[in-house]
Amino acid sequence: MSTRERERDLRWLRRAIELSRHCPPSTTAFSVGAVVVGADGEVLAEGYSREVDAVNHAEEAALGKLPAGDSRLRTATVYSTLEPCGQRASRPHPCAELVIAAGVPRVVVAWREPALFVETCRGTALLEAAGVEVVELPELAAEARAVNAHLVD
Ligand SMILES: [Zn+2]
Repeated sequence: MSTRERERDLRWLRRAIELSRHCPPSTTAFSVGAVVVGADGEVLAEGYSREVDAVNHAEEAALGKLPAGDSRLRTATVYSTLEPCGQRASRPHPCAELVIAAGVPRVVVAWREPALFVETCRGTALLEAAGVEVVELPELAAEARAVNAHLVD
């Protein structure tokens, strides 16, 4: 990855962390922020955990603001503070499947899901199996995690 690309990724992931601070508090779910950015650098949608309802996930909230089949998604990147979930009890489709169904080719995350609510998060594996590139920027992991300090620290 070029330095310029990395700088851009860090900037959007920081925006996602900022969004995660807007999540209504929860003792049973992570606070996550997500930004969907088009190939030309335009923000297509933003979301955060529990934005729409009590079990809403950030990626779901953001992708839900875009029409199904929006062609801009085919070249977009989803920035999420936490790796997209690979299974969930509250909805038929985990976020990894939503990303795949939306046709998004690239996901950038700050933090891998710790074994707290699910034993092993399969989100990254699902995405990669579907050909989605998953990039992790560990330099922002502490910041993304700090928003969830009440759950993991
Ligand atoms: Zn999710």
